[in-house]
Amino acid sequence: MTDSITIALSKGRILDETLPLLAEAGIELVDDIKKSRKLVFPTTDPNVRVLIIRATDVPTYVQYGGADLGVTGKDVLMEHGGEGLYEPLDLKISQCRLMTAGPKGSQPPSGRIKVATKFVNIARRYYAAQGRQADIIKLYGAMELAPILGLADEIVDIVDTGNTLRANGLEARELIEHISSRLVVNRASMKMKHGRINPIIERMAAAVASRHAEA
Ligand code: AMP
Repeated sequence: MTDSITIALSKGRILDETLPLLAEAGIELVDDIKKSRKLVFPTTDPNVRVLIIRATDVPTYVQYGGADLGVTGKDVLMEHGGEGLYEPLDLKISQCRLMTAGPKGSQPPSGRIKVATKFVNIARRYYAAQGRQADIIKLYGAMELAPILGLADEIVDIVDTGNTLRANGLEARELIEHISSRLVVNRASMKMKHGRINPIIERMAAAVASRHAEA
């Protein structure tokens, strides 16, 4: 089935911003994805289907070939590690920053630091690169509570406007990485299906370039 292509996406911001780019590559969903509980969707191209999965599962599905292509945030890719994936295109959507943050007006401790985050691999690498000893505490949400309740000195989280931090008495400290969504491709698919995949990448790249030329 070297002709059929499966694309992994996740609901929310990434889906909303990716669908117009896919449409410019000639791929449109047939169903109203927002009203459906289905996980696999046909498209206007009979050889292309779209999977809707959790954002953090997108790199894993693409890595193991469950999907040929996927769209996911650079934060998710950095946390995953990127094995088995090509990352040929920055879609320049869902832009935000991955930052450390702590209680407003306070200083991080000079010695060992406690850090709460869902990005445990990124945090481990970041503090190690800074030569700082860190105890990393894995949380799945509401990271902002951890410093307030004394669970951690600092958090590592996504910041867009900074409103969430401010509303919880926190402030951003250090920038770890600028984040945007990336197109990822399974390494084997890139070789076996390049005739199908290359035009999709090229058309999406052209759509991204024309948007940024307008801006
Ligand atoms: P803000 O209050 O605008 O700084 O947004 C911060 C919260 O929104 C974070 O806790 C994130 O969970 C979420 N968020 C904002 N932008 C993104 C993005 N591009 N990708 C994923 N999550 C985001």
